[in-house]
Amino acid sequence: MKKIIKYIDCDGVILDTEFGLFDEYNRLKNTGANIKRLTYLQQLDWRGWIRQAKIINDAISIIKENNPNDAEILTKVHSLSEGLAKIEYFRELGIKNNIILVPNDLRKSSVVQAKGNLLVDDSIKNLDDWFAHDGISLFFNADGKNESIFKEQITTNNQYPLISTLESVFSSETDKYCKQLILKK
Ligand SMILES: [Mg+2]
Repeated sequence: MKKIIKYIDCDGVILDTEFGLFDEYNRLKNTGANIKRLTYLQQLDWRGWIRQAKIINDAISIIKENNPNDAEILTKVHSLSEGLAKIEYFRELGIKNNIILVPNDLRKSSVVQAKGNLLVDDSIKNLDDWFAHDGISLFFNADGKNESIFKEQITTNNQYPLISTLESVFSSETDKYCKQLILKK
């Protein structure tokens, strides 16, 4: 059986970069500034933003405790500077895993092969696409709730196993779950 690659999302799974992300954007909007969401994200000081973000449920330590060949970080980026900031930050913390940047306009399944591989993500939209491409999806929520914060998409998870710590990604239960799903497909 081929090795299952475990892809781990960054924002909302490893780092709480989404908390307060649009506060400044909303403030600017309220002052009547003509700024688009995408432009705002592209121009953000990602180096600073990533460093102020909270690490979610010990994610960095858990990734470092496990073999770097067992998981890869798969993260959407709005600009190269966002990608650079993320890679720099993870390397500074001693993370040795592969880090794959997905341009925001593309799906994760367009950049890496979903089939037979695992994706841990807090976006149901990403997980639906992954699953539609024969991937194995796990829903992440830091508080153990089956709800996502993305108001522009479906916000209730009722399809994928829920995890709230990355320890679950490296557990034998998850390995068993993956093998069962692969056999079924
Ligand atoms: Mg995310």
